[in-house]
Amino acid sequence: MTNRELMERAKKLMPGGVSSPVRAFKAVGGEPIVVREAKGCRLWDVEGKEYIDFLMSWGPLILGHAHPYVVSEVERQLSRGMSYGLTCYEEIRLAELVVSSVPSVEMVRFVSSGTEATMSAIRLARGYTGRKFVVKFEGCYHGHYDGLLVSAGSGVATLGIPGTPGVPEEIAGLTLVLPYNDTDAVLSTFERYGEDIACVIVEPVAGNMGVVLPSEGFLEVLREVTRKYGAVLIFDEVITNFRLSVGGAQEYYAIDPDITCMGKILGGGMPLGAYGGKKEIMSHVAPEGKVYQAGTLSGNPVSVVCGRATLEELLRLKPYQLLEERTRRLAEGISTVLKEKGIPHTINRIGSMFTVFFTEVPVTDYASSRRSNTELFGRFFRNLLHHGVLIPPSQFEAWFLSTAHRDEDIEEALERIQTAVRSL
Ligand code: PMP
Repeated sequence: MTNRELMERAKKLMPGGVSSPVRAFKAVGGEPIVVREAKGCRLWDVEGKEYIDFLMSWGPLILGHAHPYVVSEVERQLSRGMSYGLTCYEEIRLAELVVSSVPSVEMVRFVSSGTEATMSAIRLARGYTGRKFVVKFEGCYHGHYDGLLVSAGSGVATLGIPGTPGVPEEIAGLTLVLPYNDTDAVLSTFERYGEDIACVIVEPVAGNMGVVLPSEGFLEVLREVTRKYGAVLIFDEVITNFRLSVGGAQEYYAIDPDITCMGKILGGGMPLGAYGGKKEIMSHVAPEGKVYQAGTLSGNPVSVVCGRATLEELLRLKPYQLLEERTRRLAEGISTVLKEKGIPHTINRIGSMFTVFFTEVPVTDYASSRRSNTELFGRFFRNLLHHGVLIPPSQFEAWFLSTAHRDEDIEEALERIQTAVRSL
């Protein structure tokens, strides 16, 4: 069966033929591929075509696909049971690893996705402070929870969906949206609404309007102003946890948030999320406290083993410098290739994540990221795919490297990218 035949079948069964919107390749044009299997940094579609993968399942696979140690640990767990509905030993092991690795986290609650993590963190912040307003930043994506879908990035940006039908105005009205990196807007909003603001939620490094770094002092101002007004500072580290360093962006930038949302690498490719923070706040979560949040599959044994094995391997390898060097080489190589062809671009990179924006202007927030030439990005994406390089099917996402991307893979990817760009 071809990709096209299978997608036709899928479209009759699932909206857009997909389980998550951006997978339909709508914004980039071209035909979605249907995956057969993946190993290391390579992925194969049902037609047997091979791709060097820089999508990496949108971030979780920092060790590459099907890492042997992770696979063997998961296999061992599978035969011991796939869900218990009770606390298990493996869950405690992962909780210990999280608490010892993430500087601000003293206690953690496991959930099944990043969306659940942010949704629960917001509820906790509201329950803890007794306030209702949430401050978020334009172009940041925190999952598909109603109150966080306002001016969101990721697929919402990609598909150009303005507000989101299905989110009542009354709920959207409780979310105050500010431009990323705009400290003046933060300060004036707190002057006006400070006493009613429950929390600020932020991607400490944004990944969902493409990669956008926090400007100097931005995170510090968020920390100071929330402390001053008694609001909760939530770092959404679903992308950055264990990606920028073992302790995530908060370790990288030495900022101490009150609550941290986790996902992606935390589960090593299995469905797993978590929120955690200071004991004083986390003790408000039921059953210790009154803020309710629960899940049949929360702390799932297979997911936590996958996460535990992934974190163990990261702690053993300490691969961050190597990842950074390889990512820099790839990003610089791409820039050279684009320059040769005279294509204006800006690359934002940190550690092993980056975005190639098709604009000359510095990209520092959602407005500047929207200045990218998305039509050109679509052609770039399709040519890369044709030449065996898989990147996120959207201008407003991050490319990810893994420890499975060796020097020779980067060289090969650059050759393929050069061929693809020459024929743009
Ligand atoms: N927060 C951030 C920063 C994310 O990037 C994402 C997903 N890309 C989420 C939350 C939501 O996570 P999930 O898709 O697992 O629900």
